[in-house]
Amino acid sequence: MRVAADLDVKDKRVLVRCDLNVPIEDGKVGDDGRIRASVPLLKDLADRGAKVIVLAHLGRPKGEPDPEYSLAPVGKRLEELLGIEVRMAQDVVGESAREAVRATEPDPVVLLENVRFDPRETSKDDGERAEFADELAGFADFYVDDAFGAVHRKHASVYDVAERLPHAAGPLVAAEVEVLKRLTEEPARPYLVVLGGSKVSDKLKVIEALLPKVDKLLVGGGMCFTFLAAQGHDVGSSLLEKDQLDTCKAFLDTGKIVLPVDVVAAEKFDADAAHDVVDAEQIPSDRMGLDIGPKSVELFAEALAGAGTVFWNGPMGVFEMAPYAEGTRGVAEAVAALSSGDAKSGDGGALTVVGGGDSAAAVRALGIDEARFTHISTGGGASLEYLEGKALPGLTILED
Ligand code: ADP
Ligand code: MG
Repeated sequence: MRVAADLDVKDKRVLVRCDLNVPIEDGKVGDDGRIRASVPLLKDLADRGAKVIVLAHLGRPKGEPDPEYSLAPVGKRLEELLGIEVRMAQDVVGESAREAVRATEPDPVVLLENVRFDPRETSKDDGERAEFADELAGFADFYVDDAFGAVHRKHASVYDVAERLPHAAGPLVAAEVEVLKRLTEEPARPYLVVLGGSKVSDKLKVIEALLPKVDKLLVGGGMCFTFLAAQGHDVGSSLLEKDQLDTCKAFLDTGKIVLPVDVVAAEKFDADAAHDVVDAEQIPSDRMGLDIGPKSVELFAEALAGAGTVFWNGPMGVFEMAPYAEGTRGVAEAVAALSSGDAKSGDGGALTVVGGGDSAAAVRALGIDEARFTHISTGGGASLEYLEGKALPGLTILED
């Protein structure tokens, strides 16, 4: 796979697909992790004399302009982080975009409006996407994809544009692929996976794909209650997916699944609700489990000790509320402790990978140093699909 550093971009126009899909709160950028992550490539291209045209999506607008999903706040933040003027187009391929692309002022970064304002971006019709991709490709000499979070989508800005221009992977995409390859091709043993988050049904396929490959699968988060229920325990008013009980039973039969032994059970889904640590097998009927308890953290930490490879996806509890954040903190600490500083060079320590938007946000929100993990994946859905063994359109096309 060719990388952006291989391209001779001096005086060329480079269309860069970035993942700038950040939370917007009251018209301002919340957690700006994804914007920060995109900066090195954009800066490098600009420093090497390219005119940089940034293409990104935000949220899920309905294929038409919608101020709620404008990239304008993102452009502002990007400008602050880059230290280079960012010219914001008012549309994606319209007059404003064409003008911004043609302009030859010295500060060279252009941010096109939310690519999903055009219905052709996500169209299932190959012809519609092709037409849109032709217009986008007309803006540039090269295409660079640095939006790992979108490579599993057959969208015009991810797939069809790459087909039309000399292309390369950006550093984020290249780094993700390298780490995911290490997870799938002969991972150092023991290989442990920690899964959490809200629903089993979101992650069924990845559980199915990973179970034969891992030595142990530790389950926390909202999904652990369907497993506990599958063992015949009452889970109170905790998150429960009744239609997944049989599937969970089959997963449990592998003998590889480790479940929490205690949980933080609250009266309701509220940071101020009364809550106690209870036995995972005896959750009172009027309580809901919102985090794994301290004994479970210890159990998981013991299981993790000595691992060669760890993949962690999904918070262990509702970490957004302080009383239910300690399980996620404890597990994050246990995983981080496994990767010594040398792990990155492969000289020692475990390979520790965090995947998932909320998991990455949890690491940042809890103030855990990101550098203590070998890698934090920026693309949740895409990394899970890669681990499921699916071909990802955005990667397939870059490999051509
Ligand atoms: P990721 O984005 O890392 O893949 P998910 O999207 O699967 O993670 O899940 C994240 C969400 O799961 C968080 O918002 C968190 O509040 C929620 N969650 C975790 N534990 C529970 C629980 N016990 N009950 C309800 N929701 C939970
Ligand atoms: Mg999520």
